[in-house]
Amino acid sequence: MAEDRRTVDSDRPFTEALRVREGFGLSDLDPRSTPAFTGRKADGKAALLEHDDELSSLQEQLYAASVGGDSRRRVLLIVQGMDTSGKGGIMRHVVGRVDPQGVQITAFKKPTEEELRHPFLWRIRKRLPEPGKIGVFDRSHYEDVLVVRVHDLVPQQEWSSRYATINDFEQELVEDGITVIKVMLHISAAEQKERLGKRLDRPDKHWKFNPGDIDERENWSDYQEAYQAALERCNIDAAPWFVVPADRKWYARLAVQQLLLEHLRALDLRWPVATFDVEEQKARLART
Ligand code: AMP
Ligand code: MG
Repeated sequence: MAEDRRTVDSDRPFTEALRVREGFGLSDLDPRSTPAFTGRKADGKAALLEHDDELSSLQEQLYAASVGGDSRRRVLLIVQGMDTSGKGGIMRHVVGRVDPQGVQITAFKKPTEEELRHPFLWRIRKRLPEPGKIGVFDRSHYEDVLVVRVHDLVPQQEWSSRYATINDFEQELVEDGITVIKVMLHISAAEQKERLGKRLDRPDKHWKFNPGDIDERENWSDYQEAYQAALERCNIDAAPWFVVPADRKWYARLAVQQLLLEHLRALDLRWPVATFDVEEQKARLART
């Protein structure tokens, strides 16, 4: 049970421990650390499995509220991180355990010609979750201030105005009933090298390998700088950032699951009360 790991000072330990605060520096955070969790790998894996059911059940309650109680509540989990940081693993091992009808996953790739003809949030707005659902973004509008900034894909004047645009956008989402959870999976350059090496060693992983990922390693520090800027400039109270140390995959998965759970629990969801007389329906059923 979650209660086992609750500390006396917080019932949202991962939310508290991973939240970006004033003065946060990405380079100060050890990617191998495991904030809010004292167990080892086996404990972490067990804890992940233990909480699958609760996550599914909370999502079902979210959905039930949208049907029975006409609530507009939904959740949007935004996952960002360098190549090989484990975004795919989050989709499979955390989000993948929820009823597929309750989640909407979108992986944002290089924009198409059509997408490029529209403002950068155009394709994002089209993929927002419906009421009752958990939307998950594997990459997001943050690419428009990350890869775009690092490679000058638009003039500086344009990308630098996007931080404020993003803040307004996310504020609007929150006001519309969306719980926005923004996660950066933080890996070290050494761990990435290791993971790319593994992809090259395994024929069943070659499809995931992109030679361009090696070129991108040259830009590592520019990316870290771009991440730091996004974390600082888009850390609004309504939608703060969480940075998850991700050199240990088991920890990153557990941490993202717990962030989701802590946010869902805080919604204080209830099963909608029946709109019919239960006893009367039981009696009717018995007569059939
Ligand atoms: P992957 O997530 O490894 O499948 O790769 C997706 C690729 O799309 C990454 O190289 C991203 O940097 C790129 N990408 C995603 N969004 C954008 C964007 N808005 N502008 C340019 N490239 C993007
Ligand atoms: Mg990739």
